[in-house]
Amino acid sequence: MANQANVNPVPDTLLDRFRPAPRGPWADLPDAQWNDWRWHLGHSLTTVESLRQVIDVSEDEAAGAEEGRDAFKIGITPYYAALMDRKDPGCPVRLQATPRTAEMHVDRWDLADPLAEERDMPVPGVTHRYPDRVLFYVTHDCAMFCRHCTRKRKVANPGTAANAQQIQAGIEYIRRTPAIRDVIVSGGDPLTWSDDRLARLLEQLRAIPHVEIIRIGTRTPVTLPQRITPDLVAMLRQFHPLFVNTHFNHPKETTREAFEACRLMADAGIPIGNQTVLLRGVNDDAAVLMDLNRRLLMMRVKPYYLFQCDPTRGNSHLRTTVAKGMEIMDALRGWTSGMAVPYYVIDAPGGGGKVPLLPSYVVYRDDTKIVVRNYRGTEHTYWEPET
Ligand SMILES: *Cc1c(COP(=O)(O)O)cnc(C)c1O
Ligand code: SF4
Repeated sequence: MANQANVNPVPDTLLDRFRPAPRGPWADLPDAQWNDWRWHLGHSLTTVESLRQVIDVSEDEAAGAEEGRDAFKIGITPYYAALMDRKDPGCPVRLQATPRTAEMHVDRWDLADPLAEERDMPVPGVTHRYPDRVLFYVTHDCAMFCRHCTRKRKVANPGTAANAQQIQAGIEYIRRTPAIRDVIVSGGDPLTWSDDRLARLLEQLRAIPHVEIIRIGTRTPVTLPQRITPDLVAMLRQFHPLFVNTHFNHPKETTREAFEACRLMADAGIPIGNQTVLLRGVNDDAAVLMDLNRRLLMMRVKPYYLFQCDPTRGNSHLRTTVAKGMEIMDALRGWTSGMAVPYYVIDAPGGGGKVPLLPSYVVYRDDTKIVVRNYRGTEHTYWEPET
């Protein structure tokens, strides 16, 4: 667990709601190793045999691993693996981490690159779709390979590694494009890099006068909270204004370790946002998402986006209908803090970008008035100004 000497206090009554993660078969491992992120990456579970230490691997998981051998790697940190339920293949953590035979099923509308990210690349690795910001792909590697990953086409595949020249060319593109004021450092997961390597990248980005904000997209607070060390945040805070966006999908992931990782970042003045993917069997339930989002706020993490799951090849078993997403949004807005309500978005297939979806609150509208219904369903009239 993170060094707590230098962190801001939180009342024990709240802290007690964040239980330390179970350690499963690693219960007797010395803390020094368990708390070392490199130990976790070095002991990543990548085979069905290694998974048997933690779970009773189902026939479907074993077959899924076999059939999908060449499609999308397995890679799970011991920390995240120990959160899985040994007996229940439907465990929300396990569904995100272990392969299934359904991954081999390709739906009619599935796409290898659903967001057409490769098309909008002026230079390899930089997706420049919106006027003032870019997505900068710097690594193919992640602490845990999510079965629902949108970038399965390249994540986990060393063949897509962004080499030093490619990254340099990306920085050059950002430097010579003054319209870019926001750089999202992404992948894969940039926090699989060493602090020094990441610092060199951030230094170069910060030296560009038109770059106003830097965002880092990382799932390590969820899958490898040990990665968020005092040294890392001391380095990151040199590059403010810097934001972190992470990817919690279920309350089970909000452990004490995750809490402490977010506390270190928040104490260093790093605003943290969360991007949840709506996943069938994992979080397609308003009560689960309300619980998750309230817990995230206690961790000082702002629920930012709820994504309709992208139609990536082999994802259809994890996708819900849009009606389900709308129903969940309707059950959040008004019923809990507005701070706990993310934007529900579809990242439009074909590269259309993120489009927000909202249940309809407008009952009637003409030139003189608008009739709205509130979260409880009662109707109210707002009269437009007469002049
Ligand atoms: C999601 C995304 C962004 C960032 O979008 P925001 O709505 O600003 O968070 C930027 N570029 C690409 C290509 C994206 O997919
Ligand atoms: S952490 Fe993000 S990029 Fe990596 S596998 Fe998961 S969803 Fe994909």
